[in-house]
Amino acid sequence: MKNKIVETIKGWSEKKPNNIFFDEGEDSLTYLELENMSNSLASYLEKNEESYKNIIVYGGQSSRMVISFLACTKSGHGYIPVDGHTPVDRIKMIYEESEASCVIAVDEWPLDEGNIINLSLFEEITSKGELPSFKNVVTENDVYYTIFTSGTTGKPKGVQITYSNLESFCNWMLEDFDLKTEQRFLCQAPFSFDLSVMDLYPSLLTGGTLIPMEKKMVESFPLLFGSIPKMNLNVWVSTPSLIEICLLNPDFTSEKLSSLENFQFCGEELPHNVAKKLIERFPNASVFNTYGPTEATVAITSVRITEDVLNNSDRLPLGKVKSDTELVILDDEGKRLSDGEVGEIIIVGPGVSIGYFNNPEKTEEAFFLFEGKPAYKTGDAGLIKNDLLYYKGRLDFQIKWHGYRIELGDIDHHLTMLNKVINACVVPKYNKNHKVQQLVSYIVYDEPNAFDEKEVTKLLKEELSKKVMDYMIPQRFIFVESLPLTANGKVDRKGLINEVNK
Ligand code: AMP
Repeated sequence: MKNKIVETIKGWSEKKPNNIFFDEGEDSLTYLELENMSNSLASYLEKNEESYKNIIVYGGQSSRMVISFLACTKSGHGYIPVDGHTPVDRIKMIYEESEASCVIAVDEWPLDEGNIINLSLFEEITSKGELPSFKNVVTENDVYYTIFTSGTTGKPKGVQITYSNLESFCNWMLEDFDLKTEQRFLCQAPFSFDLSVMDLYPSLLTGGTLIPMEKKMVESFPLLFGSIPKMNLNVWVSTPSLIEICLLNPDFTSEKLSSLENFQFCGEELPHNVAKKLIERFPNASVFNTYGPTEATVAITSVRITEDVLNNSDRLPLGKVKSDTELVILDDEGKRLSDGEVGEIIIVGPGVSIGYFNNPEKTEEAFFLFEGKPAYKTGDAGLIKNDLLYYKGRLDFQIKWHGYRIELGDIDHHLTMLNKVINACVVPKYNKNHKVQQLVSYIVYDEPNAFDEKEVTKLLKEELSKKVMDYMIPQRFIFVESLPLTANGKVDRKGLINEVNK
């Protein structure tokens, strides 16, 4: 059985051995090096690790991460990308949950436990020039990667993506997105966020070069604005939030960035005004809005945003579903709705994951067979009109913050574990573009006497930052005597959402 991704990358290492696959300045590595180093590492993994067990690959935007992913695939292991900026407690949770047999740590692994291949061992292994047998290469329904996302109970859920899932996604990317060969792709999304798959594999499959943009760059406007012109990008893949920031720079234009000709967005709503501004600045570029959850492999709908599309809708469409997939809109009772009616978006097709790792309960809640085909309940409300999908918000309490997916219950859980916090409820405050502008946390705090709210807020933020990703820390804390309850005695999150959005 074949793995076309592995074979195509090998093909590039033969056709264009000197093409750079990941731009790291003078230390950049070529496709030939990618091929040889991943072969050596795969051979080591084959000899030393039990097949088909997951392997954690830990680190930031680095060529070594990509080499490790490919080595896992070649040696029959699913990989779990964990970003280097993840707090230790969360790493521990993912590590324990994942049952990984080994960790390839490109960045320094912060736990005491684990069977670790650290960077110096990595360099030693990858320079050996060995070949794996390719007997166990990941294919068909084998798990290719598992990405951990925020879970309602505070425990991350591992979404398992198989070779067939990824193949379906890659085929669509190569067919429908005006991609050329040997282009320069922005590589900004952390590998632990599935948006990264949208640049990683299309770039490797077309002999392209990934250009890393690290977290520290995105956090500083001068650094960000100063570095983009030097990147000579052709293809831009990001959340709409990042492009919104870039557009603040008047020099972010096609005159100044003449090679940039293809923009792909996913992960959150693309606001109309942002898309309009981008098209004015880059009139000849292809601009795509895409939509999909991690559970259906990155994205499953796309639309090219043109003047016409902008003129015909205030809220942009999510697009047309890819040809091997079907979209179904269901009402509360599971009845199929007609075009134009709003209901839950169900995705049916070969991109749908086989479920959450070791979590049959959550898998059963979200995954099912629809007319015999794998289907996923997105929890998104939407409608279909003229073959185009439109987004109408969430049906539950999952939100997006700069494209990152957060279950509000996940933050509540970690807040209530903190000293003196009796109860907590986090709610989003939206702007006019339906985008979360602020996370507001209502806290019942166990302190009978008057206390300095500023000090306690600082303390809670500090404590919380040890448990959750930095993008999950609320900006505002409101201390209350009790939280409002619904008729069923549950915390009335909807009521609080209405209150902060009045
Ligand atoms: P993730 O699993 O992180 O990719 O998040 C998936 C969720 O992000 C979807 O279920 C939607 O709620 C939201 N989402 C993704 N793409 C878009 C888009 N283009 N417009 C609106 N929401 C989106």
